[in-house]
Amino acid sequence: MDSRSRPEFVVQGISASDGIAYGEIFLYLQTELEVPAYQVDADKRVAEIGRFEQALVATRQQISKIQNEVEKNLGPDEARIFDAHLMVLEDEALIGETVREFESSGTNIATCFNRVSQRYIKAFDEINDEYLRERAGDLRDVAQRVLQNLLGTAAQQLNELAEKRIVVANDITPSDAAGINRSAALGLVTDSGSKTSHAVIVARSMRIPAVVGVRDLTTRVANGDRLIVDGYAGIVTVNPTEQTLLRYGRIQLEKKTFESRLLAASRLPAETLDRVHVTLLANIEKAEEAAQAREQGAEGVGLFRTEYLYLNSPRLPTEEEQFAIYKAVVEALAPHPVVIRTLDLGGDKPLAGMPGLVHHEANPFLGFRAIRLCLEHPAMFREQLRAILRASAFGKVRIMYPMISGADELVRANALLAEAAGELRQRGERFDPELEVGSMIEIPSAAVTVDILAGHCRFFSIGTNDLIQYLLAIDRVNDHIAHLYEPTHPAVLRTIKAVVDDAHRRKLPVAVCGEMAGDPIYAALLLGLGVDELSMSPPLLPAVKYFVRSMRMSDARRLAADVLKLGDPKEIHARAEEFYDARVKVD
Ligand code: PEP
Ligand code: MG
Repeated sequence: MDSRSRPEFVVQGISASDGIAYGEIFLYLQTELEVPAYQVDADKRVAEIGRFEQALVATRQQISKIQNEVEKNLGPDEARIFDAHLMVLEDEALIGETVREFESSGTNIATCFNRVSQRYIKAFDEINDEYLRERAGDLRDVAQRVLQNLLGTAAQQLNELAEKRIVVANDITPSDAAGINRSAALGLVTDSGSKTSHAVIVARSMRIPAVVGVRDLTTRVANGDRLIVDGYAGIVTVNPTEQTLLRYGRIQLEKKTFESRLLAASRLPAETLDRVHVTLLANIEKAEEAAQAREQGAEGVGLFRTEYLYLNSPRLPTEEEQFAIYKAVVEALAPHPVVIRTLDLGGDKPLAGMPGLVHHEANPFLGFRAIRLCLEHPAMFREQLRAILRASAFGKVRIMYPMISGADELVRANALLAEAAGELRQRGERFDPELEVGSMIEIPSAAVTVDILAGHCRFFSIGTNDLIQYLLAIDRVNDHIAHLYEPTHPAVLRTIKAVVDDAHRRKLPVAVCGEMAGDPIYAALLLGLGVDELSMSPPLLPAVKYFVRSMRMSDARRLAADVLKLGDPKEIHARAEEFYDARVKVD
């Protein structure tokens, strides 16, 4: 039957790599290898171990070849994925256990290796940690190759793909993904998978549109079917009708034009049509993101969430470890400023490795969090402050305290900062004596006492994520009430306006570093309310910059003044959206 006559159906998955592709399916099904079990005669056991060693060598050669190709085609970062694969082949425990099992049981070595590797895969899979689950995937991939080499069977290969097709697979390993012929694969769809799996990372770096997590799609399609992969929305349309094809044709064209416009804008200044410069900054969580921040046109880092250095660690990072990271970020951004926020543990960020530091609490967001915790652990806090101060000798650094609820906390934090500076002076270490200190405004009590806080700091940054949660009493991680979390609630806008006005009266600048700052719909509102700087996750910078370049600041001020008179959050949202749509037309 011609695929055009089969009914269209749509499957929602997870978008893994942007772009739209249309074409015929190449069904790629990985099946578990059948490993026959048999006894090996005593006089053949040495040879059997030799076969195992040869299979390991052959696998190493195959993986090295793939790694070289990936390095050539995609670059060293993607190629590094295969270091983990090569390490599996040197894993003493895995290999030693296989040989011991073979020597004691006499069962053929393929069976022993299969059993041992399955035990390891199961152990990794059962640990509730995405990183370790990825390692299970690496091990599965390598084990499969070793078994194929031992059994002399060749699996279906993705590099056999010659004609332009959309690969639809139940699962895909990194080496599968890397073996894909880039000019033949139009798109990639997998039943399983997460956004962060290595295979998806490879697809993304090849710029192949990809959707993962479509569950049982491989059982519902056949070679010959046609489909559309919508990597933007995570949607797969099987056997699309003419109307759907037309609609997608238009979307594809619009997206392509818009993306090229965004890219062009990211190299231009963030300046409105009436020539007001807007400072756009990046929020980062890891040192590696500093380069991305620069590439996307950030004029500095407005929020470095340092708690991520602590979250993945079984112990507190030392002053030296922290200093090295802060210094790397500061140097990567110089001469632009980097706002380093002190530890914001607690709330939704407990410290798994040190349960003694952050206890279980009934209301963690109202509990022992951020600056409260640091003031109770002054030695740990001073260690971080010394590391930040030392980094200030290498560029422009600012320190920012999270969850400030009143002036007393600012005064106590500043006193510890002065102590940390004194300790460094005694050690003869260099730091910037003019280093500026700022306070986050994310608790209502801070928002209404900006005039008092202003006596103890040099800048403010509004954390709208928390401010909205505390103003509206909406737990930011509770799905049931997520619809009530409204950035355009009049209480939110009036509070931001009051903070900006109070700060400006004292000649202090105000940034916004919550998610609101990275949403172009809200950018004009925030700027119109008088916010001086917007700080956001690096990938969001181009779209916000593009919008800033499409509007007049005078219009944004008028918009803000108008919506401040309104009472309905939905109406305010609609007005902000209208303002955006009128200036940024995706056509
Ligand atoms: C905020 O609360 O808006 C903020 C930027 O901090 P975090 O999201 O890390 O709590
Ligand atoms: Mg916060």
